Amino acid sequence: MSPVIPIQSAGSKGCTDVIPLVERGQREVFCGLTGIIWLHRKIQDAFFLVVGSRTCAHLIQSAAGVMIFAEPRFGTAIIDERDLAGLADANTELDRVVNQLLARRPEIKLLFLVGSCPSEVIKLDLSRAASRLSAQHSPAVRVLNYSGSGIETTFTQGEDACLASMVPEMPSSPAHAEQELVIVGTLADVVEDQFVRILNHMGIERVRFFPPRRAQDQVPIGAHTRLLLAQPFLGDTARLLQARGARLLVAPFPLGIEGTTHWLQSAATAFGVTPERFQAAVAAPMARAAASLARAKLHLDGKRIFFFPDSQLEIPLARFLSRELGMKLLEVGTPYLHRQHMAMELAMLPEGTFLSEGQDVEKQLDRCRALHPDLVVCGLGLANPLEAQGMTTKWAIELVFTPIQGYDQAGDLAELFTRPLTRRMRLAA
Ligand code: SF4
Repeated sequence: MSPVIPIQSAGSKGCTDVIPLVERGQREVFCGLTGIIWLHRKIQDAFFLVVGSRTCAHLIQSAAGVMIFAEPRFGTAIIDERDLAGLADANTELDRVVNQLLARRPEIKLLFLVGSCPSEVIKLDLSRAASRLSAQHSPAVRVLNYSGSGIETTFTQGEDACLASMVPEMPSSPAHAEQELVIVGTLADVVEDQFVRILNHMGIERVRFFPPRRAQDQVPIGAHTRLLLAQPFLGDTARLLQARGARLLVAPFPLGIEGTTHWLQSAATAFGVTPERFQAAVAAPMARAAASLARAKLHLDGKRIFFFPDSQLEIPLARFLSRELGMKLLEVGTPYLHRQHMAMELAMLPEGTFLSEGQDVEKQLDRCRALHPDLVVCGLGLANPLEAQGMTTKWAIELVFTPIQGYDQAGDLAELFTRPLTRRMRLAA
């Protein structure tokens, strides 16, 4: 039997028209600086210079502690408390730090000045600083800026802000260029390679990824570009790319067998791939994924799960866990609900799923305690207190750091949810 079931059963619209509970209270989510942890690994000739406080430096150093043995591609220019009269000094200091960094690290081709939320940083005009430094160091180095401030961004929105800052720099493609597929959103290299193999097998040869592995490999953009989002948190980037003429393909996200198949199908349809050729390209990896999910389903079927809002991956994950692994969704919280990008995901969610957008953390904790789920997906700050209250948790951040997209990662993705449950069972034995 095919593991892909119809997007909607007869007479059901899934959660297409659902009105989520909207909450705007205290929230427990990382800021957008966190995105630097995966972005610096992806764009190998870029450097991320956080303009911030000691708190910002601690955040990214502790989150990326593994990098202490290598020359890191991120750092923090710490702006101490200054009054407005000290801004000239702050700009001079920033220029000095950048000049020193670029002189010492000639391999850097793209430098991001990343804003943060301390008031002294907000007073600095980082876009002017980026233009000034770019003029000074181009063409060898381009300097861009974006904000990772906790006031403006949550967790994964840092990637959206980073990629959006790159869009104006992308070259325009010639008017009569051939149709090209651009996959948008950071994916592990191994996942990119798998997707390229499958797409090539279908006959889609012109495939690019944004962000590219090297900043100098600029992706041309224009009316010939077909965009496929690999991550659900790229609202601003997608809007800017569409404004450059690119066309967004409607698809769910490539998590699990169904998500991956519909996502690839969307590209196949846009490029005129025949059903036979599509099947030939996906049959073997689909079968491998189905075998790996069958094992995980033994642990997850019927288990009740609660999502706190964190990465914006919650809705695609909930769809995967309910439809392919039989989990029961108690609440699916998301920081933001982008209805257009989530259209297919919402249609595939079981009808009646309780969705919430934003957060009022104390109220949400009360709902979670009252339901006592088998598994809670939440940020690091909530996980330990909930574990102490007898709940089993999964850290949402792991879902962003781990390669989980595509057929060959479907089993690993399911295992991220089985592991905390089996650990809890062993502790209780
Ligand atoms: S940007 Fe703001 S929220 Fe993020 S680490 Fe710095 S001070 Fe904290």
